[in-house]
Amino acid sequence: MAHVLVIEDDDVIRPRLVRSLRDLGHAVDSSPAGLPGLQVALDARPDLVVLDLGLPDVDGMQVLTMLRAVSQVPVIIASARDDDPGLVRALDAGADDYLVKPFTAAQLEARIRAVIRRSGRPVEQAEVAVGALRIDLRGRRVTLDDTEVELSPREFDLLAYLAQRPGEVVTKRELLTEVWLQPWGGSDKTVDVHLSWLRRKLGETASEPRHLTTVRGVGVRLSAPDAP
Ligand code: CA
Repeated sequence: MAHVLVIEDDDVIRPRLVRSLRDLGHAVDSSPAGLPGLQVALDARPDLVVLDLGLPDVDGMQVLTMLRAVSQVPVIIASARDDDPGLVRALDAGADDYLVKPFTAAQLEARIRAVIRRSGRPVEQAEVAVGALRIDLRGRRVTLDDTEVELSPREFDLLAYLAQRPGEVVTKRELLTEVWLQPWGGSDKTVDVHLSWLRRKLGETASEPRHLTTVRGVGVRLSAPDAP
């Protein structure tokens, strides 16, 4: 089961795809155009995007390029242009796989499984535990030593992102790109401020870290207190 976003303008194909994917147990969002679809991809953070190349507002290739600037979400291109060099360009631009229309739901399902397996994203993962922290990714709730911690949406996103990379130092630039979706702009200060709020809510400080450790000049790491 995965959370799939379908960006497809064809009013016959789109509802059919949505229905078959739901029947297979996936959670499905859909959009009939490129820019609104891109917005859904950024807001809803699907596990995978099925992207049509021929869209009414912007070309699917442009959608792919814009999406790739801010996200590594797996993308399967659904294209009618079987002999179009567009498919090659799409793969070069970061698409993970493609299907040429018409295709069956079973064919799409097989590609979805393969792409998700290759991307190594733990889509079934609903909860992450790091030390005394438990982060419910679907329910967006956090407990520390079994006590609920109230976080703002942004603080939650920040913590959830770090929790999925436990023990790894994550740079502020990466956080601006992945959590704030500002790959080009944004300031380290933004990250610093949210980190300090998050720290306070987790009952720790920069000088006396428990789970959240700043690595000077590099970034920040979330790890179990007793981890090396
Ligand atoms: Ca189309």
